[in-house]
Amino acid sequence: MRCSQLFYPTLREVPSEADVISHQWLLRAGFIRRTTSGVYTYLPLGYRVIKKITEIVRQEMDRAGGQEVMMPIVQPAELWQQSGRWDVYGEEMFRLRDRHQRAYCLGPTHEEIITTLVDAEVHSYRDLPLLLYQIQNKYRDEIRPRFGLMRAREFIMKDLYSFDVDHEGLQVSYEKMRQAYNRIFQRLMLSYRMVEADSGAIGGSASHEFMVLAETGESEIVYCDRCEYAANVEKAVCSPVAVEKAAESRADGEMITIPTPGLRTIADLAEHMGIPAHEQVKTLFYSADGKLVAAVVRGDRELNEIKLKNALGCNQLFMADEELVRERCGAGFGSLGPVGLNVPVYADLEVPLMPGISCGCNRDDYHYSQVKYGRDFTATAVLDLRSAEVGDPCPHCEGHLLKMRGIEVGHIFQLGLKYSEAMNATYLDKDGRQKHFVMGCYGIGISRTMAAAVEQNHDQDGIIWPIPIAPYHAIIVPVNANKSEQWEAAWKVYKQLENLGIEVLIDDRDQRAGVKFKDADLIGIPLRITIGPRALQENRVELKKRWESETELVDIDRVALKVAGIISKANQIPIDLDK
Ligand code: ATP
Ligand code: MG
Repeated sequence: MRCSQLFYPTLREVPSEADVISHQWLLRAGFIRRTTSGVYTYLPLGYRVIKKITEIVRQEMDRAGGQEVMMPIVQPAELWQQSGRWDVYGEEMFRLRDRHQRAYCLGPTHEEIITTLVDAEVHSYRDLPLLLYQIQNKYRDEIRPRFGLMRAREFIMKDLYSFDVDHEGLQVSYEKMRQAYNRIFQRLMLSYRMVEADSGAIGGSASHEFMVLAETGESEIVYCDRCEYAANVEKAVCSPVAVEKAAESRADGEMITIPTPGLRTIADLAEHMGIPAHEQVKTLFYSADGKLVAAVVRGDRELNEIKLKNALGCNQLFMADEELVRERCGAGFGSLGPVGLNVPVYADLEVPLMPGISCGCNRDDYHYSQVKYGRDFTATAVLDLRSAEVGDPCPHCEGHLLKMRGIEVGHIFQLGLKYSEAMNATYLDKDGRQKHFVMGCYGIGISRTMAAAVEQNHDQDGIIWPIPIAPYHAIIVPVNANKSEQWEAAWKVYKQLENLGIEVLIDDRDQRAGVKFKDADLIGIPLRITIGPRALQENRVELKKRWESETELVDIDRVALKVAGIISKANQIPIDLDK
């Protein structure tokens, strides 16, 4: 492709709408344009990257036994009413009506459609397992569309659904997908980590997320400094850590009441009363499906609302209204504690290990000290309720936890019977009995992966595409395209590369060499071949890798093969040792 004909409107300035690096570079390099909030057009270079990611994902899905289908974007409300999600999905769903006032949505996900399809068409255990997938636009009216392709309202997703006869079958399908996902992110040449994820209210089922590691990621991950353990902070298992015995006066003896006028926070009490945060507890009040509950964690810890919500098994959890709490418990926020409460108390695992506790008195401007769990109060349940922190013990080994940030690009999930029961989707087993399908679902954000790749691979001059997803592998830059010997040499190399199946650009524009180099860097083409007058006298050209600063002089007759070698090495498919 000649650069003079390529449609890639580059921008010199950073567009004001772009809030993260990937969004800035994708706009500046002419890969995407915004149509409206959270909705984008992929320009030729951008769409080439999308197609490359798609193709790798497709190959690995097929290899794992998936069969590609294409389901409708427009989905009838009835199916969502059957699964019970029409009313609970909320504002994230784009809803519409046809001329007969029938309700539809634009598919945010496809469990309802696929479960209905498989229920209608698959009758026997002999037809299982079945793995069906599609690669298609999804629609979610995100509350805050941002970061360009990362959190869009129209985006491209690969979604695969597995149907098995039983839970053991699901484990096999899940494992296949886990391996396929690892192969995909290796082939995309992204630095990623698979982490244990929260599976929400579904309960008990496994779920893993695939995170591309990047400082700007929206997700926080903890990982072990010794073993393979890694988890989303929402999920990370926290082992309780015992604190040293408190100063004698605060740990021993009977519970005492201390006046604390105007002292409302953990920090206030630490500063003015000299009681360190780890000797205090935080008592937080929530409305769980309308019922008031209290949650207690050590003063220096963060309560993890997702853990609390899962432990309570409730659908809605939000901070309780202060007036309601005052009415029920006798004090406002800042003077509350677990002693003598008449609401259910859920305590973190560390609370019973505290030698002496300071907490609010449920009376404004007073606190208790020397409180002991078991003697002065007990909890309805003692549970893992806090968020993991750096330095926490690893739940699997002797190591300790560290934190990093990531971008969630994939999510695999054991659904079990959730949809097949709700929609009564069944097959006949060996003995002729009706059984519900055991399901799994497996998503990859194709367009988000493109943004994540840029977030991880760029420098001050632009994008550095990993070779397997680069829009073009190589670019040939004649320093002066008007000089016939340079142009002829450039054209010869161009044709050689094309014949080797390499996707190559040739910069035929009447521009200064500096401008051409800048543009090649901006759009992130992995290999640049410069044809300049001096080297050409010795029949040599310059080869530069986008990710390295040095250039290399290569014989003009050997450059095409050399480039082909670099590309085929990067595109190598991981060796497969499983049967
Ligand atoms: P998130 O927590 O980021 O909202 P999710 O849990 O809603 O993600 P899934 O329903 O599991 O996401 O969707 C599968 C994949 O689709 C995600 O792993 C992500 O890569 C991608 N994805 C989800 N929402 C968006 C979005 N708004 N824009 C782009 N990609 C998205
Ligand atoms: Mg979401």
